[in-house]
Amino acid sequence: MNRQRALKIVREVVSLPTAPFAEAGVIAYVRSFTSNRKHVTVKCDAHGNVVAHYRKGNGRIARPICLAAHMDHPGFRAERMASVGVVRAIWHGGVMPEYVKNARVRFHSGGAWIPGRVTGIETGKRGTQTVVKSAEIAVGGAVEPGSPGMWDFPDTDVRAGRIVGRACDDLAGVAAMLTCLDDLSTRGATGEAYFLFTRAEEVGFVGAMAACKSNSIPRRCLLAAVENSAERVNAKQGDGPILRVGDRATTFTSPATQFCELVAKDLAASDKSFHYQRRLMDGGMCESSAYCGLGYDATGLCIALGNYHNMNTRTKKLGAEYVNVEDWINLVRWFTALVTTKRRYDGRDGALDAKLDRLQREYNPILKRTRSMVMAGD
Ligand SMILES: [Zn+2]
Repeated sequence: MNRQRALKIVREVVSLPTAPFAEAGVIAYVRSFTSNRKHVTVKCDAHGNVVAHYRKGNGRIARPICLAAHMDHPGFRAERMASVGVVRAIWHGGVMPEYVKNARVRFHSGGAWIPGRVTGIETGKRGTQTVVKSAEIAVGGAVEPGSPGMWDFPDTDVRAGRIVGRACDDLAGVAAMLTCLDDLSTRGATGEAYFLFTRAEEVGFVGAMAACKSNSIPRRCLLAAVENSAERVNAKQGDGPILRVGDRATTFTSPATQFCELVAKDLAASDKSFHYQRRLMDGGMCESSAYCGLGYDATGLCIALGNYHNMNTRTKKLGAEYVNVEDWINLVRWFTALVTTKRRYDGRDGALDAKLDRLQREYNPILKRTRSMVMAGD
């Protein structure tokens, strides 16, 4: 992988305008990035999810990896101009109301950013929680219905070992997948994989579920949802990308999790600069729970995110999201290894099987010999 080229891709992608149901900017980028590339075919499904298939070489892989990232980020979707200089917008995603009040916003409309400020919010109840439903925003120009509205932070910067941007979640995931595809097709690397780019994750994985129901990805795939997940005390930035074994709702399936871990171990053994973490990231829910619920073998791959959903919990103010550059680079390398590995998932972990065998051989005779001593009077 060419590092400069990788950082150019992440800077561009994480700067794109997006919001749930308003992913046009990301979809256009993904389609133009993936079209006319060697060994890549691209399709858009009935719900606007994008699927790229990479295949080089003749051998059919029984269970290819499918990497999946979502193209949206918590944000506004413009509904209509309420009056001159005021847009009404629907809010989608998990950000607490106190962060939204009076916030500076920018809408992307007609190919340009239009600045604005939240002047009023409407809240409602979801369960016991008070959530933002919609807002009135004073804007510096007319905003077309359907335009995405984001927090007013500058375009993405790579500085002091961090990628800092409006929407690392999940555009840094999208960028990592595109960088992997770029690397594979440029080198003509042998392997097969699917790359799924989904819509409207932030309202509850509806793009991902629609992709499953309409068979946009083959059932035989091992799915890995790619995420930016809030940093945790036991999952820190800089300690490597994370094999996410589960989320708040479920633990993911063993075949997908095990395959990703075996490939990570292979990579770590051949390259000392690659390291990874294996963690239960139960702070939130991700698309993997939906994939598992719909009958796929799925797991999660993520990097630790700072200022999750733009909420700086220390200052109680909105902040740009950030991830560690080396975590992100190692995530891309992990993806590439998952596509090009000669390892085939056969449902077994040879090293683990050997270890369990060894333990049985060593200790079974002692179990038998000591039975009469522990079963007095039996
Ligand atoms: Zn996300």
